[in-house]
Amino acid sequence: MHTLPKLNYALDALEPYFDRETMAIHYGKHHQTYVDKLNAALVAYPDLAEKPVDDLLRDLAAVPEAIQKAVRNFGGGHANHRFFWSILRPAPAVTGENLPAGNLTTAIDQTFGDFEAFKQTFTTVATGLFGSGWCWLVSDPTDSALKIITTPNQDSPLTLGLVPLLALDLWEHAYYLKYQNRRPEFVEAAWSLYDWEKINSLLK
Ligand code: MN
Repeated sequence: MHTLPKLNYALDALEPYFDRETMAIHYGKHHQTYVDKLNAALVAYPDLAEKPVDDLLRDLAAVPEAIQKAVRNFGGGHANHRFFWSILRPAPAVTGENLPAGNLTTAIDQTFGDFEAFKQTFTTVATGLFGSGWCWLVSDPTDSALKIITTPNQDSPLTLGLVPLLALDLWEHAYYLKYQNRRPEFVEAAWSLYDWEKINSLLK
């Protein structure tokens, strides 16, 4: 059985950028629902139910057609949210820019010029995404390049053979209570919450 992962921080720890009420509903209701629906889809497939959700998504074509859509949507929803929570951390008490470190800085500079250029490109792509989906910074194992991509709905970069490094949930449920239609403000707020040490550790 898949379960809702524990958060490494309290629901109000991401205030004022992500508010407690949104986190409570987003994590406690939306994410839980993806987990529940994934488990329900896998009930008749005990062998698949034992596999890590990331493995199912990496080889989605091997999942039986009868539950492929459910695994894509609910398995993707579970994996995407689990990843998203894991790369966030409470904003530092000291104000100052939250910047990446280590190998990631070098890779971002080489790919995008500098962090500011990366941030601007990511922001443009994220604010421009039509409909519900996610914006990602991924590493592409085929050419070792960093890329900014979007995925619709709950599609996972894992299914595309990509390694996610940074994610932003752009479903309205991620921001509507606090930001309403002001998606750019939500995108801007997220930059204060990324755990660059964690993200750097994902870059192999
Ligand atoms: Mn979400």
